[in-house]
Amino acid sequence: MAEKVIPLADHRYAAALPRIPLQPIPSTGLLSDTLGRPLRDLRISVTDRCNFRCGYCMPREVFDKQYQFLPHDSLLSFEEITRTARLFAAHGVQKIRLTGGEPLLRKNIEVLVSMLSELRTPDGEPLDLTLTTNGSLLARKAQALKDAGLKRVTISLDALDDTVFRRMNDADFPVADVLAGIEAAQRVGLGPIKVNMVVQRGTNDREIVPMARHFREQYGGAIILRFIEYMDVGATNGWRMDQVLPSADVVACLNEAYPLQAIDANYSGETAERWRYADGHGEIGVISSVTQAFCQDCNRARLSTEGKLFLCLFATQGHDLRALLRSDHTDEQIASAIGLIWQGRGDRYSELRSTQAPDTGSGAKRVEMHYIGG
Ligand code: SAM
Repeated sequence: MAEKVIPLADHRYAAALPRIPLQPIPSTGLLSDTLGRPLRDLRISVTDRCNFRCGYCMPREVFDKQYQFLPHDSLLSFEEITRTARLFAAHGVQKIRLTGGEPLLRKNIEVLVSMLSELRTPDGEPLDLTLTTNGSLLARKAQALKDAGLKRVTISLDALDDTVFRRMNDADFPVADVLAGIEAAQRVGLGPIKVNMVVQRGTNDREIVPMARHFREQYGGAIILRFIEYMDVGATNGWRMDQVLPSADVVACLNEAYPLQAIDANYSGETAERWRYADGHGEIGVISSVTQAFCQDCNRARLSTEGKLFLCLFATQGHDLRALLRSDHTDEQIASAIGLIWQGRGDRYSELRSTQAPDTGSGAKRVEMHYIGG
């Protein structure tokens, strides 16, 4: 029988060894990159495993029973994650999002949450500590996460219709269990809750209005539903532009059912464009990373499950912080290395997407979203 080829096995390990500058780069909280963008947001992938097989993220044909996920000893330990996060907080990070893979699959995740909840910004403020989940284990875990110090959660949910949802998660997982997870998160106070729906033209675009109706009617303004354009992340999902439903179309469709009014961003660098229901029943957001790139104020860094630092969701190469963490470098040296990496950052893939030659084949070296974290 022919041997199965897994297309991304090698380059998920590609990473440069960070350089430690001769002159230390102090942790002033004021770092900026070559485009003047500060470092404010760190996303940490705590596992590359997921119990869903959404076709746009971890298609089953690739991530099947033979697929080799990272071995446990290559994952950053909770101590290594917390040490790294502390150095990032000193450099100005104010928000940490745990992600994956499915972060609630990482054993004892609440222990990590409690360790991270101790961190402070240079001004002594607690970090905005949050987590993105598919919601499948949330009903069971919500209370423990809250008790450990998690502030809020974002839940991914692509459809309310059970048939559409089961088809999209490709794990036959029922929507009722995710809704129960959302309910539990709301009950224990993990809010304000955001629900993210990736919209794929022809797959779940009929779910836009039912999703809006559900969250308006059940939760009023308490839950913010956000619609995400399907992105060309990774190299395995076979992305095509004609599967992208532009956010402008989502807004137009919703506006017919429930008139909307544009509202200002909460802060600079916010990924979602905000709209409120004219009748006062809360707000929605649209994240238009394909049709309206927002690289100019991207302040996000991503730490992969095995400790590679990525500066862009569409990056092809990371920086191997784990190599520094597992040698005898001091915090000051590692912080300086992080500072140097950020100071050299010029990534703006989404802005350049339309000017680049189309990807003609494999999508080559882009890292997968479940590996660097969504
Ligand atoms: N398992 C968790 C979850 O489902 O939220 C966290 C990881 S998942 C990679 C994070 C988010 O990325 C999810 O909302 C998912 O829908 C989104 N996502 C994955 N691939 C995507 C793509 N190609 N385009 C847009 N969003 C995508």
